Amino acid sequence: ATPTAVMVATGIGASNGILIKGGDALERAHKVGCVVFDKTGTLTKGKPAVTHHRIYNKTPLADFLTLVASAEAGSEHPLAKAIVDYAHHFLVFGEPPTPKTAHTPRTRDTSWMKQASSFENIPGKGVCCHVDNKVILVGNRKLMTDSGVAISPAIEDYVQENEQRARTAVIVAFDGTVAGVIGVSDPLKQEAAVVVEGLKSMGIKCMMVTGDNWQTARSVADEVGIIEVMAEVLPAGKAKAIQSLQADGTVVAMVGDGVNDSPALAAADVGMAIGAGTDIAIEAADYVLMRNSLEDVITAIDLSRKTFSRIK
Ligand code: ADP
Ligand code: MG
Repeated sequence: ATPTAVMVATGIGASNGILIKGGDALERAHKVGCVVFDKTGTLTKGKPAVTHHRIYNKTPLADFLTLVASAEAGSEHPLAKAIVDYAHHFLVFGEPPTPKTAHTPRTRDTSWMKQASSFENIPGKGVCCHVDNKVILVGNRKLMTDSGVAISPAIEDYVQENEQRARTAVIVAFDGTVAGVIGVSDPLKQEAAVVVEGLKSMGIKCMMVTGDNWQTARSVADEVGIIEVMAEVLPAGKAKAIQSLQADGTVVAMVGDGVNDSPALAAADVGMAIGAGTDIAIEAADYVLMRNSLEDVITAIDLSRKTFSRIK
């Protein structure tokens, strides 16, 4: 392609809300053989909401939610935001949000919140801190196992029940004992399945990579039509996963939105960040999809193909 063709293509991209960082990035996309999607915030809306919960230690719901949300208040994770929103609604209005009320503007009344100390964010696992002189752990199985918290068969059953319905089960422990499980559900983006279908018909393999657990990952992948899944991957592991796919010469694109995706976006031949994603992801990517629609993954690859393949 001539420099003019590249300039024109970059302009077409921009007018479609696809920012392409340079001619090399534009060129690499035409050879993409595999697209790896992050799950949360990429295939899903990234606006998870609490839909289920079960308390195991007789703590009243208001007290349980106060402690959990006060712990999660220090985290930027979408799961943490879902839990804080749910707790906020319950503690301010005295009832849990319904799908209808979930998006009503929140009051700024955070007087219910308690001060957390020695807050620690454990990437890919959850958070740990002290609230009310209790050690609060909020996160996944790995976090519990690492901290020596036992999960009884009854609790494990409830965790799996959530996961089989594509919900992320967030486990809560107070002072080393499981106090409850929170089921968080994050609906798929409406275009996700069609885009996966479209990429497949272009001869491109689609995969999913996520830090979330296998069960939840599998049920989300099934809904969207993705067969190959890499789950329970820590942020550093996402980049390694991309490199292993590149080993046989496959040109790999990664689509992601989160801080935890940025090493993978940088490692991929073509990194595509969702425009609504975090700044760090946007910086690491070669493409930024400003319209936040997965359809633009196809548009971007098409544009590169039209610009760089000999047969037009
Ligand atoms: P993803 O690839 O789905 O964006 P992450 O790597 O950010 O996932 O997190 C992986 C898993 O770690 C989550 O699915 C969740 O189980 C757990 N986790 C991470 N941060 C938190 C948090 N602040 N609260 C609860 N769970 C968390
Ligand atoms: Mg994500």
